[in-house]
Amino acid sequence: DNVIELEKVRVTFGTAKNAVTALAETSLRIDKGEFVALVGPSGCGKSTILKLVAGTLNATQGNVFVAGREIGAGAARIGMAFQNPTLLPWLNIRDNVMLPLKIVPPFKEAFGAKRKTEYRDRVEASLKQVGLGGFGDKFPWQLSGGMQQRASLCRALIHDPTLLLLDEPFGALDQFTREELWEIMQNLWIEKRPTVLLVTHDLKEAAYLASRICVMQARPGRIVDDSPVPFARPRT
Ligand code: ADP
Ligand code: ADP
Repeated sequence: DNVIELEKVRVTFGTAKNAVTALAETSLRIDKGEFVALVGPSGCGKSTILKLVAGTLNATQGNVFVAGREIGAGAARIGMAFQNPTLLPWLNIRDNVMLPLKIVPPFKEAFGAKRKTEYRDRVEASLKQVGLGGFGDKFPWQLSGGMQQRASLCRALIHDPTLLLLDEPFGALDQFTREELWEIMQNLWIEKRPTVLLVTHDLKEAAYLASRICVMQARPGRIVDDSPVPFARPRT
């Protein structure tokens, strides 16, 4: 039951004369409900893999399947978060977090006046969970960087994504906030079991959160080790 399948994928940037091979003959299969961490040095192609799966970049060679379909078919409900907060500055925190419920099926179909209070409650509960209860009326610039990042994570999770693509979302946080959000992320994964692909530089983070770790090398980017996390925490 593969949610993600990369088949001998090659990604080359630039012209034939000065081409950069970002990813060489890379194959990767991720099963439903796995939590996979991608680790490796800068430039090894981690973000390139995320972009392939998100459908914002095409492979030069090879195939990419998401939820059994060639990418672009919109087969999976995807949530994304990045290293820096990506909130829309003209919307308050509540409306930022609400956004996926307005645009992603099946939630958008129910986004009539009738369901509005239900969605507001859902957003408020989610904000509370990441320590932002009562901050829905604030605008992004009124919050610290750490709080904006909490809200960005909230927005990535609000529509119960079946596939979560995370590009160092905890990287710019202070140690306290980071570990608090690790715990929230872990509980969420145990509870809802989305498939997660996490890019991180932090080996401790990878070992804490992931059920499987893929180590990459640069020039050209490729996966050189792929291991389950041996001493996994108890999971239900
Ligand atoms: P990572 O996320 O592991 O740091 P990336 O996937 O961002 O690595 O990049 C992999 C390689 O591809 C790097 O050598 C990078 O310079 C190159 N690269 C990425 N995007 C582009 C682009 N748009 N144009 C040219 N080269 C790129
Ligand atoms: P940082 O990114 O600076 O580490 P945190 O997200 O860890 O910030 O927030 C630190 C604490 O400061 C929070 O627990 C919060 O209560 C408080 N705080 C930060 N910004 C605001 C704000 N705009 N309004 C109210 N409280 C705030």
